[in-house]
Amino acid sequence: MSTPRRVPVRSGLFDDDAGDVVLLGARCRTCGRPQFPRSATCPYCSSVDVEPVRLAGVGTLWGWTTVHTAPPGYDGPVPFGFGVVELSAGLRVITRLEIGDGAALQFGQPMQAAIVALHTDHDGDTVVTYSFAPTP
Ligand SMILES: [Zn+2]
Repeated sequence: MSTPRRVPVRSGLFDDDAGDVVLLGARCRTCGRPQFPRSATCPYCSSVDVEPVRLAGVGTLWGWTTVHTAPPGYDGPVPFGFGVVELSAGLRVITRLEIGDGAALQFGQPMQAAIVALHTDHDGDTVVTYSFAPTP
């Protein structure tokens, strides 16, 4: 039996830079705007001249809610927090939140990403994703 591994919920979304979570985005060389998740085409100006960038997993809370029912294909625990964080790089990302109680959150509060376990897959590996929580 093999040792359980930690596998990302989807490859190419996030990485760990010596303990700091980065989101794998891109920046358009034509209009300069960042994007996440990474795409070969700029969603703002349709340019295909985009370069990969690593976006720091830090920002401020912009919006949030609590999810009480598991979405299709989701095997993690419910309820969980879900919201929008405006990254320091200047774009808003949709994200899981570690705090499911919306009353404990405030607009504009500093947030930072962590890599958290979601569930165990059929191979016994731990499926992980990025998730934001208030900056300690
Ligand atoms: Zn563009």
